[in-house]
Amino acid sequence: MKFKRILLKLSGEALMGERQYGIDPIRLAEYAKDIKTITDAGIEVAIVIGGGNIFRGVSGASNGMDRVQGDHMGMLATVINGLALQSALEDADIPTRLQTAIKINEVAEPFIRRKAMRHLEKGRVVIFGGGTGNPYFTTDSAAVLRAIEIEADVILKGTRVDGIYTADPEKDSSAVKFDTISFDDVLKKGLKVMDTTAFTLSQENRLPIVVFDMNKKGNLLRVVSGENIGTEVNV
Ligand code: UDP
Repeated sequence: MKFKRILLKLSGEALMGERQYGIDPIRLAEYAKDIKTITDAGIEVAIVIGGGNIFRGVSGASNGMDRVQGDHMGMLATVINGLALQSALEDADIPTRLQTAIKINEVAEPFIRRKAMRHLEKGRVVIFGGGTGNPYFTTDSAAVLRAIEIEADVILKGTRVDGIYTADPEKDSSAVKFDTISFDDVLKKGLKVMDTTAFTLSQENRLPIVVFDMNKKGNLLRVVSGENIGTEVNV
């Protein structure tokens, strides 16, 4: 295996599957199965989940809502997704803990770094909900922050595209995929991998990011075992 401890970032939208809104249980079960293949292989797995399938603070703000209020709603949305993911993982017999950046003690553990690391060492998947706990951030930033804190080897950004391209492959058919690319080149070429705050935090801490297609069965195990199926951003 190429990596020992990984942080998997899943967007809220990924959980929608074929739906327009909310959570698709079939998609969740597929993800759980894929995650099981890597925990069975002895990989320590932490997950940060987004909330865009339920609510985004910016969309609230564009409709006249106070931005901070909207971001609080967005952070709670990630907790809802975290609970759904936790259920799906437990259905697949994977021991799981949900830790949140905002305290909801009756529902989940608060984020405690040492506890999270202990869970990982014991083979439990740790889901981090509530983003960073602060408005004006994204769950990509939360993913990078938590990955650094728990000393993960890599961030695996599971998307519906199979890597980083010279242009948006869904709009431009001549776009070419990178197998690897440096942080500097991503910035120079103006490519979108994560928002700038998240991306530079990753760069400054020399934390590699692998972008790959999470919707193809078996891809997660392929990435973790070192197959170059997505794009790796490194120093
Ligand atoms: N959010 C926030 N602080 C954070 C992480 C998330 O305020 O640290 C809010 C923000 O409103 C964001 C929403 O939660 O729009 C959902 O997160 P995100 O948009 O990152 O989800 P994704 O795009 O991954 O589904």
